[in-house]
Amino acid sequence: MIHSASSPGTHFTPGKVVSIDLSHTRGAPSYDIVIGDSILSEAGTLIAVKLGKRRCLVITDDNVAPLYLARLEAVLGSAGLGILPSIILRAGEATKTYAHLESTLDLILKNGADRKTLIVALGGGVVGDLAGLAASLALRGMDIVQVPTTLLAQVDSSVGGKTGIDTARGKNTVGAFYQPRLVIADVALLDSLSEREMRAGYAEIVKYGLIKDEPFFRWCQKNGARLLGADREAQIYAVGVSCTHKAKIVAADEKEAGERALLNLGHTFGHALEAAFGFESSLLHGEAVAIGMVMAFKLSAQLGLCPHGDAYDVRDHLASLGLPVEPPPFPTGAYDIEQLMQLMAQDKKAEGGKLTLILAKGIGKAFVSRDVKEEDVRAVWAEFLPKT
Ligand code: NAD
Repeated sequence: MIHSASSPGTHFTPGKVVSIDLSHTRGAPSYDIVIGDSILSEAGTLIAVKLGKRRCLVITDDNVAPLYLARLEAVLGSAGLGILPSIILRAGEATKTYAHLESTLDLILKNGADRKTLIVALGGGVVGDLAGLAASLALRGMDIVQVPTTLLAQVDSSVGGKTGIDTARGKNTVGAFYQPRLVIADVALLDSLSEREMRAGYAEIVKYGLIKDEPFFRWCQKNGARLLGADREAQIYAVGVSCTHKAKIVAADEKEAGERALLNLGHTFGHALEAAFGFESSLLHGEAVAIGMVMAFKLSAQLGLCPHGDAYDVRDHLASLGLPVEPPPFPTGAYDIEQLMQLMAQDKKAEGGKLTLILAKGIGKAFVSRDVKEEDVRAVWAEFLPKT
């Protein structure tokens, strides 16, 4: 059982750079996460100073490209970095496939990259995950800089080096641990993000409070609405605290042998829902995680591990900001609990066919559990699924 004792609370000072210290591992070099308001304009200088004047190849998607690609290319160019033709993927989860990975790898080579070329992933988690995997494979490994443009990507997917695609066997089932060399998170880019995508990313912020930082969860209760209302100070603070937590956890356990699994709070339930809906469905990843976190706390309370009041606090906070807290009606008929159980067992976090769940002894006190009885999990699904 891996416990996360509730910490006295992590804080973030604007202007401070968060570093992921991987110096004790023999693999990836340590790297910085630079967080700020309108710092896209500094991307070229940051890259040139930290990684040298390299040629860059930007990978983005067709929603983000019209908004930010020209600006990014201009700042890279004015910092003296060379620019190869960009790769523009179709936006959406359906792009995280073997076929798109193959065409991306082909374009990286066709567009003239060599091993010194820097891949720059400009986009949300889909672009970051696919570009990261492509960077790990092309020419046996190219350096990658992440420029996350969704809240979810800024607080979670761009940091920590998990890359991957979805397959018929499940979400993110093919991938690699491959750390970026630098992350540049500009909260001003969130201005163009839809309210729904902002809320979905917010669920991952709340997750850090629920795992190991009760004071941060209380901060979220007070400031979540401000953050979603485009308050820059609140955004920078929350992105900073989230990245600080993630950096510490990844530095301690890069390959998820232990503590990093805590970051999967809500994900085993959530991934089963996403898979049942189909990855191209209308349920967003962060929404599925929000539902999953509420279910994990409810199960923890029902097992007598955590006060019921904490489970209500989690549900009420997420619901108050418009996140779903129970599975929506199934698009075609009814849910099948056995299918959901199977999907949970297939989740790549299951070990030896045993369910691995992140449960909690309270807000900020998550732990990894491998001994939950299937009947208890079935009972939570039965309670949460809409009655037909
Ligand atoms: P996404 O990349 O699909 O982005 C959501 C939508 O917003 C897309 O349509 C995109 O084009 C658009 N968009 C992106 N930035 C925008 C902006 N600034 N303005 C306007 N529109 C913008 O989704 P996401 O939520 O960022 O990421 C979800 C993916 O991340 C999933 O595939 C999930 O598996 C993955 N993920 C990975 C990790 C990891 O550690 N690698 C962690 C969490 C999630």
